[in-house]
Amino acid sequence: MYKHGIERVHVELTDKCNAECPGCFRSHYGGIVDSNIKNVQLDLNYFKLLGEDFIKSINYWLFCGTRGDPMSCTEIVDILEYIKSINENAGVDVLTNGGMGSAKQFRRMSDILQGNESGFGRGSMTFSVDGWEDTNHIYRKNVKWDKVMRNILAYKEGPGLAQWDFLVFEHNVDDIPKVKEFCKEHDIQLKLKQPFGFANGPSHPNLDTMAVHSRKDGSYMYEIYPDTKTKQYDYDFYAKETTENDFYNKNVIAKSAKYRTQLRTRTEGYDDMYSYYWLREHNNLDVDCHAIKQKELFIDCDGMFLPCCFLGGSWFAKDNQLRDMVGDESLLIPSETNSVEDILQSKFFNKTIPDGIEGNLKDPVGHCVKCVQTCGKWPDRSHFDTSGDWA
Ligand code: SF4
Ligand code: SF4
Repeated sequence: MYKHGIERVHVELTDKCNAECPGCFRSHYGGIVDSNIKNVQLDLNYFKLLGEDFIKSINYWLFCGTRGDPMSCTEIVDILEYIKSINENAGVDVLTNGGMGSAKQFRRMSDILQGNESGFGRGSMTFSVDGWEDTNHIYRKNVKWDKVMRNILAYKEGPGLAQWDFLVFEHNVDDIPKVKEFCKEHDIQLKLKQPFGFANGPSHPNLDTMAVHSRKDGSYMYEIYPDTKTKQYDYDFYAKETTENDFYNKNVIAKSAKYRTQLRTRTEGYDDMYSYYWLREHNNLDVDCHAIKQKELFIDCDGMFLPCCFLGGSWFAKDNQLRDMVGDESLLIPSETNSVEDILQSKFFNKTIPDGIEGNLKDPVGHCVKCVQTCGKWPDRSHFDTSGDWA
């Protein structure tokens, strides 16, 4: 599928994390950890296995993932140093909640991410921090504020660029001026972001709340409300741009009493992707593959190659269509006998995924459901005459 090669790699170094965010696949709404979490990490040997030629050919690395914080990987500094020793011009970005890792590690990362003397290979550390001392842990449950501050300041003692990603909620909107001030003082770029998880579909004008569950027993604890009062946000203080708040003035429906008393799992529905059989009736879904456009590959914390983190999340959630598309997953994991080249030339990358994008899969749906959801035009189902069992 990568006719023009691969230039960017998104790596999920680990599925370990200190945080309990309700929007994350690692757990069920911040509660019970998903049974698929293994607390594993990629190590330096894995990157050596990828081969110097491959690493040399990559000009951008993103360390993020779908179910773990890269700073929870104990070998992250060694891995970054190794990659830079092979291609010092490669840019590297790392995203973290800031609450894991030592001050020493963050200070060292600042040197590594600064790039080389000729100005190439500059990357940055993005701190995902949603509020201030009294509010960050409402969404970033279990993240310790003093560690976040210690690590940001340790990082900023060095030359590395930093960004602060701030998800705006009702409970933290008043912290924005304080965070702006801090970012200005420490030369950190601030990005105000609208969170996912509130909109409940195009045909529903109201917003949902986001429930947060207990790690101890999975019970409902509280819910998070979107900010519906602010019309627009200053995008960041450098660009002085503004962005509209899509949630402005919308009605928010709180969780029902029934919801509050039931244990919920986060990955419901992923084992039933063939219920989207009705997509077969559509042939203008216009799937425009982000991975192909960006020449990007995703590597998950088991070392498995997939085109993108969207499929990475689906794989983790046990998407049954994707499981059938993949078949033997060991064929997508590099080893002494299975090279990077073998994987990229495999049937999965060169036939199955293109078929999933174009609607040519020999399964009840035809399209890869996740590809349509992520990179295509999701059809208005009212045009499809069904008396079937869809609910
Ligand atoms: S910090 Fe990231 S990996 Fe950790 S729980 Fe939150 S979203 Fe998931
Ligand atoms: S979801 Fe599918 S179409 Fe979108 S980037 Fe991934 S592989 Fe490509």
